Amino acid sequence: MARELKLLSVVIPICNEKDNINELYSRLIKIGKELSTKLELVFVNDGSSDSSFSMLKALGVSDKQVKVVDLSRNFGHQMAIRAGIEFASGDAVAIMDADLQDPPEVVIDMIASWKEGYHVVYAIRKTRKEGLLLRFLYATFYRLLKIMANTDMPLDAGDFCLMDKSIVKILSSMPESDPFMRGLRSWVGYDQIGVEYDRQERFGGKTKYSFLKLFRLALDGLVSFSYIPLRLAAISGFVVSGFAFLLILLLCFKRMPIYGTTTITVLILFLGGVQLITIGILGEYIARIYEQSKKRPLFLVKEKVNIQ
Ligand code: UDP
Ligand code: MG
Repeated sequence: MARELKLLSVVIPICNEKDNINELYSRLIKIGKELSTKLELVFVNDGSSDSSFSMLKALGVSDKQVKVVDLSRNFGHQMAIRAGIEFASGDAVAIMDADLQDPPEVVIDMIASWKEGYHVVYAIRKTRKEGLLLRFLYATFYRLLKIMANTDMPLDAGDFCLMDKSIVKILSSMPESDPFMRGLRSWVGYDQIGVEYDRQERFGGKTKYSFLKLFRLALDGLVSFSYIPLRLAAISGFVVSGFAFLLILLLCFKRMPIYGTTTITVLILFLGGVQLITIGILGEYIARIYEQSKKRPLFLVKEKVNIQ
């Protein structure tokens, strides 16, 4: 089934990206020409405090292909993507960062796979330019997620992707309050394929992800797609109880010397630690249930440009 691309949407979350917007825009326009298709560039302004929004508005005046969704405040990268796809109406919808770490030209390869009939074409980071520690942490996280998640997720694939409009419709009807978009994209299923690319360095500006924010994103991924952390509590409970039972047997037969207060202190601290960690893990799940149960709108839009 050959697909015809009449309109290509590109969803781009923007948080203080004034140094990248013009370069990104001109590279996207070139891609539209190369693919000879109409474009719909959905920029989601996620509470920028620099001149990003006024730059986008100016682009919107000169080019009706530029659409801008101005969120009422910063809702975070994942929610900005989630918001953006609701306003994308193209036959295929690409998602990419604004900083040109995801080279827009990869979309041309993605369109080729989409035309073959794939519903989701995700980009796999073959190489990265981040520091050694960060690269190690990213690699560890993706492998851990692969082992723990109840959905089969590809390794080293971020949010950069192209999706058919049918998939976008499904994703934009999902009411998750902590959306982990790359996970939800895999969860959907259908026909998916990866294309490899070399992740570039940021074109301009600085990363918006502090170490803490990255950790929080990783936690969102693990908690929304795995129950293994919850089971770890039960498993450690069994291990500790088993050990205690052995100790009781040994004591009964008086084969073990009784150690002093140091041993007892260490044991109390160890058990206290295990219990607190377990409560913390439970807390992570409960906080998310609480968040979801409040049924607040996922995001609020303050202003729209070139969108009815
Ligand atoms: N971003 C966003 N809201 C945020 C943080 C980031 O919309 O709260 C956007 C940002 O403008 C960029 C993309 O998300 O387009 C990825 O952010 P960044 O490049 O800082 O992340 P990194 O590539 O360093 O992981
Ligand atoms: Mg980046």
